[in-house]
Amino acid sequence: MTNYEPVIGLEVHAQLKTETKIFCGCSTRFGAPPNSHTCPICLGMPGVLPSLNRKVVDFTLRMALATDCHITPLSRFARKNYFYPDLPKGYQISQYELPIAVDGHVETLVDGQVRRIGLTRIHMEEDAGKLVHDSDRPVSFVDLNRAGVPLMEIVSEPDLRSPEEAGAYLRTLRAIIRWIDIGDGNMEEGSFRCDANVSLRPAGISTLGTRTEIKNLNSFKHVEKALRYEIARQSEVLMDGGTIIQETRLWDPDKGVTVSMRGKEEAHDYRYFPDPDLLPIEIDDPWVEAVRGALPELPAARRARFADQYHLPDYDAAILTSSRELADFFETCVGLFSQPKVVSNWIMGPLLGLLNAQDKTIEHSPVTAADLTALLRLLDEGVVSGKIAKTVFDEMAASGRPPAEIVKAKGLSQVSDSDAIEQAVDAVIAANPDEVSRYKDGQAKLMGFFVGQVMKATQGKANPKMVNEMLTRKLK
Ligand code: ADP
Ligand code: ZN
Ligand code: MG
Repeated sequence: MTNYEPVIGLEVHAQLKTETKIFCGCSTRFGAPPNSHTCPICLGMPGVLPSLNRKVVDFTLRMALATDCHITPLSRFARKNYFYPDLPKGYQISQYELPIAVDGHVETLVDGQVRRIGLTRIHMEEDAGKLVHDSDRPVSFVDLNRAGVPLMEIVSEPDLRSPEEAGAYLRTLRAIIRWIDIGDGNMEEGSFRCDANVSLRPAGISTLGTRTEIKNLNSFKHVEKALRYEIARQSEVLMDGGTIIQETRLWDPDKGVTVSMRGKEEAHDYRYFPDPDLLPIEIDDPWVEAVRGALPELPAARRARFADQYHLPDYDAAILTSSRELADFFETCVGLFSQPKVVSNWIMGPLLGLLNAQDKTIEHSPVTAADLTALLRLLDEGVVSGKIAKTVFDEMAASGRPPAEIVKAKGLSQVSDSDAIEQAVDAVIAANPDEVSRYKDGQAKLMGFFVGQVMKATQGKANPKMVNEMLTRKLK
């Protein structure tokens, strides 16, 4: 039986968060009454001329630099011609032979392994309008508020090998876009959209198989589901001795299947040609360097620095740099409490667990960096035990009170008073003569039992180190 390897390449459209549209001064703000953010330019009236929003170029350059692309010194806009009611001009202004950036890559962590995914190109284009269909009457409405909103299209090389890898790559792209503050990357709201190209080939072969392109993917979950479905479908066709037809397929999220939308024969001929109304975009070194100079430290660099400077495992460094805000939170904590690995453990464990459960991001964390590190200090000084610290943490999350106050109010301080511990140790030894003699006969692992009994007797508040020492001494 032939073993097939999936090959996936993604085309991502990300909305850029400028105040105004790409070729006119209309607002890009979401949620305004239909057609209120329009003018003769984005309505496609005859005789008007577009003028390029420089910010769109700046934002796309940021992305190009953040993904190690080569920047095209002289790029062009092109007209992509097709007819659809949401496209008033009858063409979309996009880029074709000369995109603003080519040949980049991103690194993404899949199953603990760093994978490098190539980017073929990044280009700028305008969005189309939106059709609103009336379910009661046979009419449709057109809202052109979105026509002319700036988009950046990012095309990957066919470097992805599984639906999970495709998902990880998309999350990485979104993280970069948010990190450099050029878009919100919200898939559900349509500001981050993706078409997925997928083919199969016999394992070990380097040529590409015939691909299908899946459209209508509007959540990360659906991208992975649709790819899984499409891989299974193609593999069935091939196993049966059939051939894959190059076509565009539509994901049906309700039925969980892809259905054929149009074949190669019906593929559009877009009759691309350079847009005569727009000058070529000339990008010189000073422009590139100005954009580069304004970039924050990028996720990959910060991940490497975290691993290096704080001696963190790669896994910790990757999680802690999954957003700029989380990375900032970590570094604020380390500034207040200088044991990076302890801070990392508490962020990755209890804190991210809490945020996940409450569906919150770090910006809305109920526990502040100051309070978290105050707790770690109490733990470090032996004021509370590890177990109690977790209880205090939960209480901090629920009440927002600082840890010292909770410890005081609830009497959670660790018992480091040797008289009190000795009393408890003596009582446990007296109550368990059998275990004591077995321990003395060589069953060393019973130490855990004794420690457990003492901790139980002290409601978890005894200093475990002192308990251990005292038991060892008394059971000699
Ligand atoms: P278009 O969809 O406009 O024809 P391209 O031919 O450049 O554009 O391909 C678009 C995407 O499809 C890219 O992300 C590319 O990596 C991917 N792709 C191309 N060929 C294959 C293939 N045989 N299998 C899987 N993905 C592919
Ligand atoms: Zn306008
Ligand atoms: Mg395509």
